[in-house]
Amino acid sequence: MVLVGPPGAGKGTQADALSARLDIPHISTGELFRAHIGAATELGRKVKKYLDEGHLVPDEITNQMLVERLDDADTVDGFLLDGFPRNVGQADVLSKVLAESDKKLDAVVQLQVDDEVVVGRLLARGRADDNEDVIRNRQRVYRAETAPLLDYYRDILVTVDGVGEVDEITNRVLSALRDRT
Ligand code: AMP
Repeated sequence: MVLVGPPGAGKGTQADALSARLDIPHISTGELFRAHIGAATELGRKVKKYLDEGHLVPDEITNQMLVERLDDADTVDGFLLDGFPRNVGQADVLSKVLAESDKKLDAVVQLQVDDEVVVGRLLARGRADDNEDVIRNRQRVYRAETAPLLDYYRDILVTVDGVGEVDEITNRVLSALRDRT
């Protein structure tokens, strides 16, 4: 499955909780990039400026990293993607890669939260890319590039209210997944 939502919707927190409850790995492209940057790999050096500015890392780089991660043995029984896909081109690549191994997404979960809640959460979090200009960029990128995925995935989209206590939201997601027709 895939988790989508604007920056600060709580995707990372929910992805951690859901991955534990569903016993599937949590794959965050943002975390993978930050790990490369932290370890000063060649990939890390290439992508740092995009993260610093709140722009998307080019698709070729992102797709290749993701496809390699999906090759790992721990994904055979399922996985939870957080922060990928972030545009329709990435979604097309994901569909193709999954189809090659006779797999498909079960669900795309949208965490819904309004802009004010989100900016407050992001400023409180204090990550390197959480200053106001960069947050605004990430919100613009979300609206322009990522929001179209909600229509792209309309047949498997599950929308959940992302405001509340962490456990409460996790339970909402799990029960929304169970209630799907
Ligand atoms: P996140 O941890 O999901 O908030 O992502 C942090 C940053 O990593 C984003 O602002 C982008 O610069 C980059 N990033 C993460 N996932 C992607 C992706 N699927 N495509 C392009 N850039 C990404």
